[in-house]
Amino acid sequence: MNTYSRIPVAFTRGERVWVWDESGKKYLDALAGIAVNTLGHGHAKLTRAIAEQSSRLIHTSNLYRIAEQERLADKLAAISGMDGVFFCNSGCEANEAAIKLARLYGHGKGVESPGIVVMDKAFHGRTLATLSATGNRKVQQGFEPLVPGFVRVPFNDIESVRQAASHDKSVVAVLVEPIQGEGGINVSSMQYLRDLRGLCDSQGWLLMVDEVQCGLGRTGKWFVYQHAGIQPDVVLLAKGLASGVPIGACLARGAAAAVFKPGTHGSTFGGNPLACAAALATLAAIEEEGLMKNAERIGGVLLAGLREALAGRPGVTEVRGHGLMIGVELDWPCGDLVGQALEAGLLINVTMEKVIRLLPPLVMNESEARQVLSILVPLVRSFLAQPAPAMPARA
Ligand SMILES: *Cc1c(COP(=O)(O)O)cnc(C)c1O
Repeated sequence: MNTYSRIPVAFTRGERVWVWDESGKKYLDALAGIAVNTLGHGHAKLTRAIAEQSSRLIHTSNLYRIAEQERLADKLAAISGMDGVFFCNSGCEANEAAIKLARLYGHGKGVESPGIVVMDKAFHGRTLATLSATGNRKVQQGFEPLVPGFVRVPFNDIESVRQAASHDKSVVAVLVEPIQGEGGINVSSMQYLRDLRGLCDSQGWLLMVDEVQCGLGRTGKWFVYQHAGIQPDVVLLAKGLASGVPIGACLARGAAAAVFKPGTHGSTFGGNPLACAAALATLAAIEEEGLMKNAERIGGVLLAGLREALAGRPGVTEVRGHGLMIGVELDWPCGDLVGQALEAGLLINVTMEKVIRLLPPLVMNESEARQVLSILVPLVRSFLAQPAPAMPARA
C-alpha cells in the first residue's frame, strides 16, 4: 500500500557504512536504516551468527523454553540493571507492552482508570495505543477515537509533570524518550531524568523510558538513562538491538517485572531463536569492538564539525545531539536536502520538516565521519544561500 513516499533508489548490497544501488553507485550511510544497522552492513560476526542459527533452528514457540532467548534476557538484564524481559518484534510492540504493563500495575493498586504521562513531540509508534501516546497530530489524524488514558505535558519540563501529579490522581506512570528521535533530536537534561525518577518514587509511579532509537550504545553508554545515573522501572528497546533482524524488548524491574502473568501478554514471534541470536551477536560485537566509545568519539567529531561550520549561521536554528544521534535544525523546511544528499552519495534523513537527522552505524570511523561533513556542510550552506521561502522565519 501507499504508506511511504519512497525515494526512487534501491540498494543491492552493503559493507560497513557503505551501500551500493542497482546501478553500482556507492553511498555513505549516515542513517543506518533509522538507527537500526548498529553494526553497519555485512558484519561478518552477525551474518555468521544468523547463518548458523538459521541452519539449526529459526522458530519454535514461546510455549517452550528458548535457550537463545534466555541468554539474551540475561545479557540485557546485566547491561541494563533490569530484572525481566518481554520480547516482541518492534518498537511499537515494546511500547504497547509497557502501556499494558502500566495499566495492569495501576489496576493492581486499585486505580480504576490508570493514566500515563506522555510528552509533546514524543514518538512511540503507530499502533492505536502508541499513536495515541505519540505527541504528533500528523501521526494521529484520521485515527480517532484515540486510546484514552494519556496525560500530555511539555518535554523536558519537570514542573508540568509535578502539576499533572497534583491534578490527576489516576496517573500511574511516565513514558519518556531520553532523547526524542522522530520529534527532532531533542535531548532532555540529565537533571530532568533524575527529577522524573525522584517524582516517580515519591508518587509510586513507574518511570518508563523509550530507548528504542537512542539506546544500545549510540550515545557512548548502553542506555541514555545511565548518563543520568538513574534506574528506570521499564525500558523499551527495538531498532538497533539485532542490527536489522526485527526484535523488540520491554525490560522491567522490581514490582513492574512481576506484573505480567501467564495469559496477560504474549507474542508468536517475539524472542525467537533467530532474532535472539542476531541480538546476542550485535551486543557481543558492540563490546568486543569498543563501539560505545567509538560512537561517543565519532559523534563528537560530527557534532563539533557541524557546530563549527553551521551553528550561529543565518537560517540555522540549532545543532544538537549526543553521540551518534545528531540533529541540525534549520529555520525552514529542508526535506529537499535528502534528495540532494542522495545525489551526492550520502544517506541522511529530515524529521519534523526542519531537522536534518544523522543516525550513523556505530562502526563509522573518523575518516568516514569527515566525509559525511565534507558532503553535508556544503549542501546545507548552498541550501541556506537560496532565498528563504515566503513564510515567517522562526515561526
Ligand atoms: C521507531 C520508534 C518507535 C517505533 O518502532 P517501530 O519498530 O517502528 O514500531 C518507538 N519509539 C521510538 C522512540 C522510536 O524511535
